[in-house]
Amino acid sequence: MFKEIWQEIENAKHIVLASHKNPDGDALGSSLGFYNVLKSLGKNAYVFNVTKQLPPKFDFLEGFSKIKSNFPLKCDLLISFDCGHFDRLGIDRRDFTLINIDHHKSNTLFGDINLVDTLAASSSAVVFEMLNSLNIKIGRDAANCFYAALVEDTGFFSYESVNKEVFDIASKMVDAGADPFFVAKNLRERNSLGRMRLTSLFIDSLKLYKNGTIACGRVTQEMFKKTGALRSDAEHLCNLARSLATVELSILYIEESNGRIKVSLRSKNFIDVSKIALKFNGGGHKRSAGFETDEKDLYLLTRKIIRESGIL
Ligand code: 5GP
Ligand code: MN
Repeated sequence: MFKEIWQEIENAKHIVLASHKNPDGDALGSSLGFYNVLKSLGKNAYVFNVTKQLPPKFDFLEGFSKIKSNFPLKCDLLISFDCGHFDRLGIDRRDFTLINIDHHKSNTLFGDINLVDTLAASSSAVVFEMLNSLNIKIGRDAANCFYAALVEDTGFFSYESVNKEVFDIASKMVDAGADPFFVAKNLRERNSLGRMRLTSLFIDSLKLYKNGTIACGRVTQEMFKKTGALRSDAEHLCNLARSLATVELSILYIEESNGRIKVSLRSKNFIDVSKIALKFNGGGHKRSAGFETDEKDLYLLTRKIIRESGIL
């Protein structure tokens, strides 16, 4: 399949690299890493993400400023990174070949070619391994992108997905020029006061259910306004609530600017939250998943989610 993918890339004139809306580090890191590899081979590509305000936290990744939120007129090959569902790209299906590179358990295999490894810790690990086995040179900029994606999707090597292979891949990324301290400093030591204030308001909103095994908190548009925090400043909150000692399931509601509710789900030990998210037409991984809904009654929604979780 690697050779088939590379053949498509060699034949294509207008390549677009895309990732899911409200991108995380893996979505941006894997697409930008690939962009840097193509660039060093003298091949041009267009990096697309439908989200207008990208998380500035990732602005140190080479090529970040090149990401566009408008889809180009010409595209004969679209490569999708870290996206489990075609709808999440925010693109109309046109006459292009579609390659889907991902690691989500809930991936719907929407591509003409699907390179989906659900055992991989990050999409960047899937891309990195492909490039390695094709013997394609990965430079420092690309390595930093792939490494940043890997640390973001493994919680800096702390999630269940972390095993010897993850450390082996990380080590190969460092061999290729990734700088762990540079990446860590940029990702973890540049918080804004608005983000901290938003965290504080979120903590005030927390409620616990079922003997403290379920935590549920929310972020409203008013809270964003009050603190000056960005949409991407809410991305760590669901994990934060899960970190409470008694919590197995953490639920986060984010009120979007269009009034819809974005739901994030995290579990600690045994609940498969991707199954819960699928019931609400979302998706994700075993311990991290999400969906969007028009349901405004959060009390009702919480009850529905708790019922699906099976926690008695
Ligand atoms: P988050 O809660 O941080 O937005 O997302 C957690 C995980 O679930 C990520 O892997 C993300 O890609 C996936 N996810 C979140 N929301 C949705 C959704 O609406 N649909 C699908 N298919 N996956 C989602
Ligand atoms: Mn990912």
